[in-house]
Amino acid sequence: MPDFATSASSSAGYRPETRLVHAGTLRSQFAETSEALFLTQGFVYDSAEQCEARFKGEDSGFLYSRFSNPNVTMFERRMIELEGAQAARATATGMAAVTTAVLAPLRAGDHVVAAKAMFGSCRYVVEDLLPRYGISSTLVDGLDLDQWKRAMRPNTKSCFLESPTNPTLEVLDIGAIAQIAHAAGARLIVDNVFATPIWQSPLELGADVVVYSATKHIDGQGRCLGGIILASEAFIAEHIHTFLRQTGPSMSPFNAWILLKGLETLAIRVRAQTETAAAIADALAQHPKISRLIYPGRADHPQAALAKKQMRAGSTLVGFEIKGGKPAAFRALNALKLARISNNLGDAKSLVTHPSTTTHQRLTPEARAELGISEGFVRFSAGLEHRDDLIEDLQRALEKA
Ligand SMILES: *Cc1c(COP(=O)(O)O)cnc(C)c1O
Repeated sequence: MPDFATSASSSAGYRPETRLVHAGTLRSQFAETSEALFLTQGFVYDSAEQCEARFKGEDSGFLYSRFSNPNVTMFERRMIELEGAQAARATATGMAAVTTAVLAPLRAGDHVVAAKAMFGSCRYVVEDLLPRYGISSTLVDGLDLDQWKRAMRPNTKSCFLESPTNPTLEVLDIGAIAQIAHAAGARLIVDNVFATPIWQSPLELGADVVVYSATKHIDGQGRCLGGIILASEAFIAEHIHTFLRQTGPSMSPFNAWILLKGLETLAIRVRAQTETAAAIADALAQHPKISRLIYPGRADHPQAALAKKQMRAGSTLVGFEIKGGKPAAFRALNALKLARISNNLGDAKSLVTHPSTTTHQRLTPEARAELGISEGFVRFSAGLEHRDDLIEDLQRALEKA
């Protein structure tokens, strides 16, 4: 790894918005303004001796882009400074980050506890994949701290949660769950996609590992996939570094470059999208076609006090249940002109999702009901359009519901 003290700008001491623009930049000999794109598989060496030293780890520098690359390193450094982590590794997708963070530190005989309300693929990893390798898992109602406590076993090594949850936007108590995990000798891994690094810092709240799908707000303009794992130097060195190098779910340099540029505008985008989501939530809360609306920034959110305590602001997402189930929800979705039907989120374009037929379609109807994902439930991801255009679009569409 190159020496960042001399070759990269450190933004230690600056506020998050400043770090997002400057942290981790590695300038080449041409002193370019914008970060250069290092689209290369490998690197060449001045001598066989230098090559040997680099493989031994005695010479800093890049070896091969499966291990590291200047663009990937810049992206990792910028995220480290934003999140306040000691170390990070970027991955090809958010799911590569989740799978690696959950699976890599474990072995047969270990046990994992996770909140049942989570992204469909994360639930697959915990519920279906881990047990195939002899790692048992228990799913709990993430809001119920007693369930977390009761689920802990002597062999519990990791706890996993998302907050706010996907798609029902429940807010889980990261600090309290971290204490329960630590008392049992386990670590807490938090998927912070829905909160974004702008509004929530799980490491400060007591979590040990934070994962992101950078595909969402960090890109924010729908272009490429990516993920990242942030934690202590010790966790990354012991559990993640070798696993990623040897198994290869690496982030492409091109995607790292896009995501790095995405970070420059992350704070202003997330702030604008959150203001829009809050305005939409307020505009629709009393709508006659809506039976339930959930938004972490509103006083009527079931965990409003906790949301206020652990998040710096609400969310770019709003959830609501349209009266009349799937037919009514589909009529409303099909009547939208501006917001587009998608399973994605965090984009500059507003996106609307019907979780029970898409992201959570894999679950049984009972499991969906348990999570509050009814047939009429819709998840709205606020984009960067004018909020009044979006509210008018939603109101027009709801008339068709
Ligand atoms: C999208 C998402 C993921 C997976 O990310 P990909 O980049 O699509 O692999 C994981 N967790 C949450 C909460 C997500 O929204």
